[in-house]
Amino acid sequence: MSSATERRELLKAVYTEARGCVACQLHETRTNVVFGSGNADAELMFVGEAPGANEDLQGLPFVGQAGKLLEKLLGEIGMERGDVFIANTLKCRPPDNRNPYPHELDSCQHYLFSQLELIQPTMVCTLGNFATKLLRGNPAGISTIHGREEVRTIGPRAVRLYPLYHPAAALYTPSTLEMLRADFLRIPEILKLGPPPQPEPAVAAQGEFVGVGPTNSPGAEPEAPTEQPPGTAPPAQAPPAVSEQQLGLF
Ligand code: URA
Repeated sequence: MSSATERRELLKAVYTEARGCVACQLHETRTNVVFGSGNADAELMFVGEAPGANEDLQGLPFVGQAGKLLEKLLGEIGMERGDVFIANTLKCRPPDNRNPYPHELDSCQHYLFSQLELIQPTMVCTLGNFATKLLRGNPAGISTIHGREEVRTIGPRAVRLYPLYHPAAALYTPSTLEMLRADFLRIPEILKLGPPPQPEPAVAAQGEFVGVGPTNSPGAEPEAPTEQPPGTAPPAQAPPAVSEQQLGLF
């Protein structure tokens, strides 16, 4: 595989692509694409749901109240934002912070899978139901499976997947915060296990995203109406050159 420097450059190229993305209607209402930020060679990656209002304004993930809690919990295990990479299932804010629609998850997921492939984390903490269901390819809910680490093959690589409650769910519910904190405290011990055994290269060559659901991904909530089928939007405009500061790369 390519060096960390090469992977970082490739990540910037994916960011450039995402900045011009018009694959779903969310591009019409976004202020900024929130691609993700942090250490482009991180061992530990967090995947949340979608940007909120603060994230949309700043172009960075988890910069509101939920982000402050995430940083606090990271601090309690001796880590900080610059040690990890933080991304979301959706790169653009859903209006009024509604749940992601199935077709939005479908059309956006390739950015997340590229991030996972290029950053090569050992461990991926999914925050809440949407990220957990998407990366596990399974509808099991977070209240059932939080805190249960497992080895999952995502794309060409195996990672230690660790589902956690979303910090936003813990902000006003002390019992959820206690469960999130208890799960968080186990992150260092799981990281110490090191990278899980990797699949045979032949499997990787097929480029399959194992653990990712079919068209209607399991993270999707059924009540949401489909707006526009993915892939019908006009081609992306060429975006301006990448600013590393906006990408928040360390
Ligand atoms: N919630 C998320 O899931 N992601 C963010 O970036 C902010 C809040």
